[in-house]
Amino acid sequence: MAWKNNKRWVYSITYDEGCAALMDHAVPIHRRYGIPGHVELVASQIGVPRNIPGSSYDGMMILSKEQIRQLCAEGWGVGSHSMTHPAITAANAELEVVESRKTLERELRVPVTIFCVPGDNNGYPATRAVAERAGYKAVLTIYDDINTPDTELLRLCRCPIHVEYPPPFYSAFDPYKRLHQAMDRGGWVIDYCHCPTPGKPVHPWKDCTSEQLEERFATVRRLGGNDVWLAEPNDVVNWLLASKK
Ligand SMILES: [Zn+2]
Repeated sequence: MAWKNNKRWVYSITYDEGCAALMDHAVPIHRRYGIPGHVELVASQIGVPRNIPGSSYDGMMILSKEQIRQLCAEGWGVGSHSMTHPAITAANAELEVVESRKTLERELRVPVTIFCVPGDNNGYPATRAVAERAGYKAVLTIYDDINTPDTELLRLCRCPIHVEYPPPFYSAFDPYKRLHQAMDRGGWVIDYCHCPTPGKPVHPWKDCTSEQLEERFATVRRLGGNDVWLAEPNDVVNWLLASKK
């Protein structure tokens, strides 16, 4: 199986929360390597300091509408990361999953057809129950795996790229993580982090550093050569939906 333009595998990367510091610490690296990004936005928190008490990113400024429009003009995409970032339940799914999409589309004037489950995968079933009715074509989780053309779009896996992973293994950052698996199986890697920062991550279990981000992109380009499709996730979703018709 080949992907768009006969590419053999696919690489994408997503940033949950959409911190404004991406403009300094990630976007320049994207430009150097020609890789588009995708930001997962909490609909009530655009262009304001993040107000999610208890979050590692609480208080950090979030991208403004203007900055998001600039990124979209450069080939980036956006997804909904709910209205207020709770655990998604049957009781709040209407507001958090259904309404957040309408709010983001109205505010940003771009199509929003990917939902990113906030918190952990415990919110996935309640999300999945309303996702199609809400108008989403794909749902991002943190089930850690590659995707293939047969993967259910409403349950896409992501690959965390972090400085260190939680106990008991404290696994160290690996710039090759899942890349050879994707190359062998014709897969689609969707990396997941929040806001890389130089030298030290905001939280070692939730982020890589800017230096590691650059190492990751260099590894993707070196291994992938002409065989890798460096893709904004909406483009892959739309291509898969069109190819299945
Ligand atoms: Zn989040």
